Amino acid sequence: SGFSALNIDEVYVSKLQDLNITTPSTIQAESIPVILQGKDVVAQSQTGSGKTLAYALPLLHKIDKSSKELQTVVLVPTRELGIQIIQTIELLTEGSGIRVQSLIGGAAISRQIDRLKLRPHLVVGTPGRVLELLKNRKISMHYVKTVVVDEVDQVFELGSMNEAEAIFKGMQRERQMLFFSATMPKPIQVVIERWMQEPVYVQV
Ligand code: AMP
Repeated sequence: SGFSALNIDEVYVSKLQDLNITTPSTIQAESIPVILQGKDVVAQSQTGSGKTLAYALPLLHKIDKSSKELQTVVLVPTRELGIQIIQTIELLTEGSGIRVQSLIGGAAISRQIDRLKLRPHLVVGTPGRVLELLKNRKISMHYVKTVVVDEVDQVFELGSMNEAEAIFKGMQRERQMLFFSATMPKPIQVVIERWMQEPVYVQV
């Protein structure tokens, strides 16, 4: 299928086929190759464009299942978006050995802390809650190779960008950052310049 041509594992290609998803959308066709190359990416796209799979598929491809370390962090502005994204990712990772967990604000932190003992490879969370767990040393950014911020413009509007940047600080120099946003106002460009290295801009 079209996803195989983008070097996506057959396991995921067949799971997508079950969902009647066979042809990559524009944002997927343009983002997946550059994300797989390890580049920083700024993608301007609307909800409904298929942006979740545009980053989820290449991120899952990169995860080292044999490691016990947290490797990928997806930051989202709201609980609703977080739930939607974790559901999509769980659908893909079911039976794969890749462990995922949501760290969304509003939900009981004690249960999240308990479940973190299972050592997720990927977490989807809101900036405030993820930062709180970092400060409590329940998670570490040390081995996180890729961070995604989805709906960056919303993260800004909700005043959570300073928390997101505090989270970035825990990463090693060799890191990949992916921003997805419907709009790119000036303050987002400032953050991009502060954190990214030669980002590739994808616009659809
Ligand atoms: P998103 O933009 O990530 O919120 O995705 C919007 C909807 O499009 C979701 O319900 C996906 O399941 C669906 N979708 C994503 N990629 C594709 C694709 N390549 N072909 C058909 N549907 C898709």
